[in-house]
Amino acid sequence: SKGAALVTAVAQRLASRRRQVDETLSPFKLSQEQLQLVKTRMRSGLEAGLKSKGPSTIKMLPSFVYRTPDGNEHGKYLALDLGGTNFRALLVNFKKGLQQNSRLYHKIYTIPLEIMQGTGEELFDHIAQCVSDFLDYMGMKNAHLPAGFTFSFPCEQTAIDTGTLVSWTKGFKATDCEGQDVVSMLREAIKRRNEFDLDIVAVVNDTVGTMMSCAYEDPQCEIGLIAGTGTNVCYMEQLKNIEKTQEKTGKMCINTEWGGLGDDGSLDDIITPYDIEVNQNSINPGKQRFEKLTSGMYLGEVVRQVLLDLTRGGLLFRGHVTEALKTPGIFQTKYLSQIESDRLALLQVRSILQQLGLDSTCEDSIIVKEVCGAVSRRAAQLCGAGMAAVVDKIRENRGLDHLNITVGVDGALYKLHPHFSGVLQETARVLAPQCNVTFLPSEEGSGKGAALITAVATQKQE
Ligand code: BGC
Ligand code: MG
Repeated sequence: SKGAALVTAVAQRLASRRRQVDETLSPFKLSQEQLQLVKTRMRSGLEAGLKSKGPSTIKMLPSFVYRTPDGNEHGKYLALDLGGTNFRALLVNFKKGLQQNSRLYHKIYTIPLEIMQGTGEELFDHIAQCVSDFLDYMGMKNAHLPAGFTFSFPCEQTAIDTGTLVSWTKGFKATDCEGQDVVSMLREAIKRRNEFDLDIVAVVNDTVGTMMSCAYEDPQCEIGLIAGTGTNVCYMEQLKNIEKTQEKTGKMCINTEWGGLGDDGSLDDIITPYDIEVNQNSINPGKQRFEKLTSGMYLGEVVRQVLLDLTRGGLLFRGHVTEALKTPGIFQTKYLSQIESDRLALLQVRSILQQLGLDSTCEDSIIVKEVCGAVSRRAAQLCGAGMAAVVDKIRENRGLDHLNITVGVDGALYKLHPHFSGVLQETARVLAPQCNVTFLPSEEGSGKGAALITAVATQKQE
């Protein structure tokens, strides 16, 4: 009958749509073998970066942090934290032995896009102005405090208090900063204001700050991980393995800058056409390829590229490519996290899409959720594979058959996404079966960590 034929036609259309969506998403589904390969490549990258010569996409930057805190840290410190999208000023007061009880005051300042992408002088003047406001707010303009500067970008360090910016990452591209010492730039901006003094004792990557703040509570913590706007890892390495430094005994924390994995094409076999598009549209094409597969700044863009493709193929949004869908940046991490939440009914997914200016049917919302799931799952698996390489290296460094270790973690992707942390942990567990890895989310990690490093560094001088 006519009715039956219609039902069959509809069923066939749905089945074909299903097949095409599955085909589109299949390159995001990584096999165990592929993840194992990523682990191996990460491991080679870590090793190459520790050498003093030869190319390496993973920079392995010495941090001049030689140990984690021991609980004897005490006193008041200022921490200044320039991260992905904002600047934070914190005042931390450590009391000897009272590891959980450090008092903390902070204020958050947004960095306007025109400052992120203006001149270096404008950027650092803006930071100095935020510090001035914070000191006013705390009533501490005349305190001349020791300060730690968390600067979440790759810096070549020759001491704890110097850091030459190698290259901007994430959304930053302020001019005249690359190749410059960011501590000097900050000191000069403060001098230009001529209204307060600070003693900038340390410049710290956010991963290092996160590791330190978690190690304050758990001495087994010797790794710091950020899964947020950007991605990166640091860990305690044996000095004898670090060709770039002179000392040969003890340990130093290395900022890996693992986001650069693949910048030599070594990830091309897993990179999809959507990733290629995202890379080309970014402000640093060809750079930070691993970061572009795994961090908050880019995941939404990968999702958007897939949705654009599905829509052009008539498989989504009734084939209408709307202005909303053409808008870079509409899918922020927080929306991905909401869309993927299992507690959310499809109707609510549709209402989120509606807020973003996307009119969806129920079928559309199912597909959008699947796309988000495929992209974020791959991100978590890749981070897990990278983490497996790091923990196995530490285990082998120590000549152990079995390693217990804690990773201090920060970043919105890790903390707020409903599945990212679970998939990351599971992948690390499977790929590094000889390691028992505990993930410890940090509280105010990178800032408090910078204050701790400042405390550790100033105590050494006492
Ligand atoms: C930067 C790292 C930083 C990470 C997380 C990356 O883009 O290169 O230095 O640790 O983002 O914020
Ligand atoms: Mg941060």
